[in-house]
Amino acid sequence: MDELFKKAALDIKQSKNIVGLTGAGISVESGIPPFRGKGGVWEKFDPMEYATIDAFMSNPSKVWKVLLSAMKDMIEKAKPNDGHNGLFELEKIGKLKTIITQNVDGLHQMAGNTDVIEFHGNFVSYTCLKCKNKITYNEIKLDTVPPRCKCSGIYRPDCIFFGEMIPPEALWRSKEVSSKCDLMIVIGTSAVVQPASFMPIIAKNSGAKIIEINPERTPLSGKISDYIITGGAGEVMRKILKEL
Ligand code: NAD
Repeated sequence: MDELFKKAALDIKQSKNIVGLTGAGISVESGIPPFRGKGGVWEKFDPMEYATIDAFMSNPSKVWKVLLSAMKDMIEKAKPNDGHNGLFELEKIGKLKTIITQNVDGLHQMAGNTDVIEFHGNFVSYTCLKCKNKITYNEIKLDTVPPRCKCSGIYRPDCIFFGEMIPPEALWRSKEVSSKCDLMIVIGTSAVVQPASFMPIIAKNSGAKIIEINPERTPLSGKISDYIITGGAGEVMRKILKEL
């Protein structure tokens, strides 16, 4: 195992253009559970009842009371962990250029990374459905639900609900940076949600090395990724950085 930390550090040293691809797993150590699997958000809430755009538009109060207030609460409490901070260290030394994330928690930006492509938007900012005014989570008051703008419009999170499109710009930029990187570090994603799971394939086909960091193997392991370092994101990033 120690060999793999050294190998990853060497691959980082030899790279000039690293892209990070992250999923829910990188934020587990920050107290945000993944959606799928044991302890996941979808064990508590049925996504069809609470997480589709139709569910939100037909009954915003219900979705705000249950799913959105829980997400807001989780995001308010969460701080970046050593996994996020490690990716910022790699940006500071000029190696990492972009992060593509499926996460909606804003923790990469909070850690300091400056180029973060969000596939699924985020729960950090909110837009009024009527006048399009934007505010951040700390300005949302939940004394009356759904929260409303001064103009009386209802606020929605800037996340992508099921049934909504991934922002086209996020998609084309992700494809572009994936095809140009020389190393992709894939952290905490089960690599089953398209199109994010396709980015390592684009990178691999363009000649990049792929390192995975995950406690579990994924469909990429042994096929697309050159190697997987099994373990939690924070612990693994700490050990790699020590070898740099
Ligand atoms: P996923 O839930 O499908 O998979 C999570 C992965 O993280 C698994 O492979 C698991 O083995 C791994 N993991 C668990 N603990 C880990 C740790 N400590 N360190 C590293 N890896 C760990 O997540 P996904 O692939 O991102 O897809 C789920 C979708 O749910 C995403 O599209 C995202 O929008 C959304 N989501 C976001 C958040 C968030 O913003 N923090 C949280 C939950 C879900």
